[in-house]
Amino acid sequence: MSKVLLFLLTALSVLADDKSAALKTMDSGAVRYGDVSRKIWEFAEVGYKETKSADLLKGELRAAGFSIVENVAGIPTAFTATWGQGKPVIGIMGEYDALPGLSQADVPERKPVIAGGPGHGCGHNLLGAASLFAAVTIKDWMVEKKIPGTLRFYGTPAEEGGGGKLYMIRAGAFKDVDTVLSWHPADHNGASLTSSLAINSAKFRFYGKPAHAAMAPEAGRSALDGLMIMANSVEFLREHIPSSSRIHYVITNGGSAPNIVPDYAELFLYARHPSMPVLDGIWERIMKCAQAGALASETRLETEFIDSSYNTLPNDALAALVDKNMRMVGGVTYTSGEQAFAETIRQTLTDKTKPIGSQEAVEAPKEGPGSASTDAGDVSWVVPMAELGTATFVPGVPAHTWQSAACAGMSIGRKGMVVAAKSLVLTAMDLYTDPKQVEAAKASFEKRRAGFEYRSRVPADHKPPLNYRDSK
Ligand SMILES: [Zn+2]
Ligand SMILES: [Zn+2]
Repeated sequence: MSKVLLFLLTALSVLADDKSAALKTMDSGAVRYGDVSRKIWEFAEVGYKETKSADLLKGELRAAGFSIVENVAGIPTAFTATWGQGKPVIGIMGEYDALPGLSQADVPERKPVIAGGPGHGCGHNLLGAASLFAAVTIKDWMVEKKIPGTLRFYGTPAEEGGGGKLYMIRAGAFKDVDTVLSWHPADHNGASLTSSLAINSAKFRFYGKPAHAAMAPEAGRSALDGLMIMANSVEFLREHIPSSSRIHYVITNGGSAPNIVPDYAELFLYARHPSMPVLDGIWERIMKCAQAGALASETRLETEFIDSSYNTLPNDALAALVDKNMRMVGGVTYTSGEQAFAETIRQTLTDKTKPIGSQEAVEAPKEGPGSASTDAGDVSWVVPMAELGTATFVPGVPAHTWQSAACAGMSIGRKGMVVAAKSLVLTAMDLYTDPKQVEAAKASFEKRRAGFEYRSRVPADHKPPLNYRDSK
């Protein structure tokens, strides 16, 4: 056996030992980080208001020896926590914002904790806590084994439509990173090769002239009319755009009383497509629908841009690496209590095709367009990004539901969270000890990107919409 080969084999077996040791240590740390996830689940703070959640994560990272940069991009709940120095620089992203209206107790029936209050229907309480768990574990290993390199936790707020990561990218927070690791709660385990939908969102405000709706309607100009003409035009538009597009909207203000001609109305709209350049074209036409509404109703239109995210650029090399590590970690096994919880939840689902038990497996990465959107998409266009999902939700439970919010607050969510944290740790160990893995991630990134230049669709002077959850 050659000396080089012997050295490589020894290095591999040392790493395998390190990985098994890390998995064991993490089993004993699981309760502590599970508690962190439960606290964030209870805080249930919406986008850009996640003060307590961010403080909790910052406190843990500070105590573990990371140096914290607060107020990244001028966002009070955005931060980075860095440990170590030199190359490679590996990032781990953590989210912690909740969703409005999804307040839910940790029980398998619809039961809000606070009626109409926010809840963790996307499991971001687990997302932040697992990434924290991974970051602290990797740091401890780097200290113990004197591994060179930099580790950075990204505290990324307002993923749900607020685009926190876009402003962090703009502020240069990802400039020196070699690879970013990202994960998301799901109803199955697996490395992801799936993309997401590019998205634009805006609030369309119409300003009219108030009048008595019965005594002097001719004196009024209805802002609601303007809004409805816009909305109807958008409905006609649907027929003439690619069928893979998505457009959805809500009326956040439609006037105050039927007998007053509304002088103010607001429509909040999202548009999505698997490709950003195609979405650009659709977006221009939506703008024309809005102008048509204002023109026909003789009202004034104001448009406030809210958010825009790219479709995710999958990374083949990182997906293969994550897949290998996830197979070492394994899936989620239920206790009899969890099994009973899962079965009760399952009875409330319309789609029961995914069987209970499938959460024990690790699925192979599959290519596809995806159906959601995320600001992690933009990160994937500026730095090679790994993405994985774990079974934090009962099989068949979609995100953004009371069922997912319930799972995110109990032991099933926490078990999935541990699978995620372990998978991130093992993958980071490979990246720190084998420079070829980082090179392969960069090569995959360049190949998929194929020369496309990332340019954020957020206007250069647009500030983070810190109050986007409030309606005007
Ligand atoms: Zn979500
Ligand atoms: Zn999410």
